[in-house]
Amino acid sequence: MAALLAAFWLILAARPAEAAGFPPGSTCYASGAADEKLDRVLATPARWNCGSQALSYRPARVFVRFDLPRTAGDPPGWFIGRATRFERITLTAIDPGGRQRHRSYDMDQVRLSNSDWTFAARLPVMDRQTSAVVATIDKAWATPLISRARLAAAPHDAEGPTGGLLFAAALCGLLFVPLVVNLAFWRVLREPFVLWHASAVLFMLMQTLALSGLLQRIHPVPLWPTSLIGIVSFGFGVAAATMFSAGFIEERSLDPRMRRALRWSAAWVVANTLLLAAGPPALRPWLIDASYASFLPVLLLIVAAMIQALRRDSRAVKFQIVAWTPVMIVGIIRMVTNAISPTGAVDAFFAQNVSLAIEVLITALGVADRMILVREQRDRAQSEARVLGDLAESDPLTGLMNRRAVEPRFEQLRRRGFRAMAVIDLDHFKSVNDTHGHSVGDRVLKVVAEALEPDEDTLALRMGGEEFLLLLRGTDIEDRAERRRRAITTRVAAQLPGLQRMVTASMGLVVHAERAGDAGRLSSDFTALYEHCDRLLYEAKRVGRNRTVMERLRSFSPAPAQRPARQRA
Ligand code: GH3
Ligand code: MG
Ligand code: MG
Repeated sequence: MAALLAAFWLILAARPAEAAGFPPGSTCYASGAADEKLDRVLATPARWNCGSQALSYRPARVFVRFDLPRTAGDPPGWFIGRATRFERITLTAIDPGGRQRHRSYDMDQVRLSNSDWTFAARLPVMDRQTSAVVATIDKAWATPLISRARLAAAPHDAEGPTGGLLFAAALCGLLFVPLVVNLAFWRVLREPFVLWHASAVLFMLMQTLALSGLLQRIHPVPLWPTSLIGIVSFGFGVAAATMFSAGFIEERSLDPRMRRALRWSAAWVVANTLLLAAGPPALRPWLIDASYASFLPVLLLIVAAMIQALRRDSRAVKFQIVAWTPVMIVGIIRMVTNAISPTGAVDAFFAQNVSLAIEVLITALGVADRMILVREQRDRAQSEARVLGDLAESDPLTGLMNRRAVEPRFEQLRRRGFRAMAVIDLDHFKSVNDTHGHSVGDRVLKVVAEALEPDEDTLALRMGGEEFLLLLRGTDIEDRAERRRRAITTRVAAQLPGLQRMVTASMGLVVHAERAGDAGRLSSDFTALYEHCDRLLYEAKRVGRNRTVMERLRSFSPAPAQRPARQRA
């Protein structure tokens, strides 16, 4: 009784496969070890899956069985597969009587489509009797080669250019624009990020050419090199884009560690890409998943960097966010579907390319925007240089400007923010000359000029003899002037150690408090301001030298609204 039940159960259990059978028009899958024989698999119907069961490229040998529809038309002539790496494909035509005919191909022997990302291989001789075709695929490198395999009457490209191909051609044309514009930018803006963007665009161009079939139209290339171009251009493109972001986001908007991490992640992507491209065949079952997974930390890092830059008010990152969002969404969909879908990552060729095109174009806008900013800055700097230019009127001993160089331009300088003046006079300089001679005195004056450290916000003049003048703008004026006065003593002591006494200086400093509406009321008269400083200097000398007397003015002309002078020693 039990045996009967067991037998009945066995029949029931076997039923799904039996019932499913191999109806005409169905596609079924089986897999096995590298030396699995087709005949043995054909003889075991239970080994075949005819639905959307988990398919995988991992088994060393995969069988795809097509049962031909019983229609009156011609039998199919070609096997069509996704253009990814494999070791060997054997196509077997099976007649109802069991008679088989084979044809076998390696990667160099299949015909790559010139209008999409597929290849075609001619089927063995078929006749009206032929009821099934089995493709025996050895060591496939991606699931879609199996899940999207099909039979067709003719190779895809025999039908002529498709919409996809025209789209790809338009995309390539579009990509040339930022490429050319970037190289033009490079002539003006010698920032490495311009070149990184150009390389990202170039890699994307290669990717589109290889995957769309356009490359085949330009010059026939076998499957493996084409596939290699696809793999390398994608990985290197992502790496170049990451390097671009690392360089493009403004200095103050990205923590140096974050910037370094971005650069390292680009190197990581390159390493993983090379591993996938040149990795040992023994690692085949893991390399694909590893390469998908390797993009995940990079993606997270880019998101983190963007959030940080956004918080720090980066202008560049706003372009980056708009540019990258579509790519990220498509990338995440691909990674997730690769992880959970039975048929592997969705074939997001179109979406991926549209999103990358958006990335490239918006980023190009971002670079153009940076160009405009840099240009504005440069124009400002140039006109500044014009104002200060022709500094032929410089002092031969110290190289500093003299009064003639500055006085006629004082009005312009004042409008450019130079609202503070300091007059500095060396204390008891006569005794330096008397003790050490005039030439040592001259050397002291040269060191003093160095100590005054002119920069773009601090102009230094030698007014004559041992008297110097500073014009300052920007913040911390009082401290910057005072630092320079004190630097005279320390520098002279360091560079002329033979002097018997310290060389000190006294300073009279006038600072305008910057207030809206002041500009029109401030005197632009150099002499008046200079005399004012000189009075403060005299005061500093009078109360003991080696100190500063300073005054902060709201307006000093005609009647100075002064606060009492302050001393600093
Ligand atoms: P204080 O300003 O502290 O009142 O005393 P001081 O000794 O510095 O004042 P004074 O103005 O009397 O002397 C300035 C001296 O600077 C006179 C001159 O010997 C010296 N001097 C002026 N021009 C030069 C120069 O080009 N080279 C040298 N070596 N000395 C100069
Ligand atoms: Mg003096
Ligand atoms: Mg003097």
